[in-house]
Amino acid sequence: MLLGLVNKINKRTLTNMTDMTEMNEYECIIYMMYSEKTHLRYIGATEQTLKVRLTLHRSMFKRWKEGKGRDYGSFRILEIDPEAVLIELERCSKDLKPFREHYWWDTTSDTTNICEPGVFAAAGGRAAYEKEYSKKYHAENKELINAQQAKYRAENRDSIRAQHAKYRAENKELINAQQAKYRAENRDSIRAQYAKYRAENKELINAQQAKYRAENRDSIRAQHAKYRLDNREILNTKARTKITCECGSKLSKRSVARHRRTKKHLAYLSNNNTQ
Ligand SMILES: [Zn+2]
Repeated sequence: MLLGLVNKINKRTLTNMTDMTEMNEYECIIYMMYSEKTHLRYIGATEQTLKVRLTLHRSMFKRWKEGKGRDYGSFRILEIDPEAVLIELERCSKDLKPFREHYWWDTTSDTTNICEPGVFAAAGGRAAYEKEYSKKYHAENKELINAQQAKYRAENRDSIRAQHAKYRAENKELINAQQAKYRAENRDSIRAQYAKYRAENKELINAQQAKYRAENRDSIRAQHAKYRLDNREILNTKARTKITCECGSKLSKRSVARHRRTKKHLAYLSNNNTQ
């Protein structure tokens, strides 16, 4: 029945239909997404204009390609034919839901629709259905979604980077506050993660650090000199502070390591051990 209808609509009409803007607040439109190229069809119902609805289908499709949201069924048309249009099939009162549902029933059997009419109601509303669907879909299609996301990221690296930079610039304070909160709440686990990473990547880290030091010798030296200059008094006080070793020697804190290898200290240790 539908194919017969579509065959009667010429191309000019299809294009005009997508520009339909007048919408009565009591009405809803039963529409068809139709691809001339593939003859695939999707049936939807909306309380928005077809122009707005088509824009939404396209933006939801874009999101879906990034791995977000559920497959609306219309996406398998848009994927093959981005030029697919929306055609008004019927207008009905929002109150005539049984009619809308009935229409949907009769026409979804050979379309790309995924949801059957009444499916939202059965799940406890559209939001509940979408949440449940999204969870299930992600679990069942993990690898596909990851691959799609990786592909999308690779193809849109620059624009993604620009978006992130823009977001960070516009939300600097919020981000800093969030990060500080996260660090405060997860201090121990973060520390443990770092320690684990350092232990597992010791050689890599050493090599990186050696490379960095070699490449930045002069600036590091300058930094150290500046630090010593800026903290002269604290450093001097520290240097003058004497501690008493267990062997009785008085020495500055910084020379403890060296002192522990001296004859005097070693003698004390061996004396103590034999007593
Ligand atoms: Zn000592």
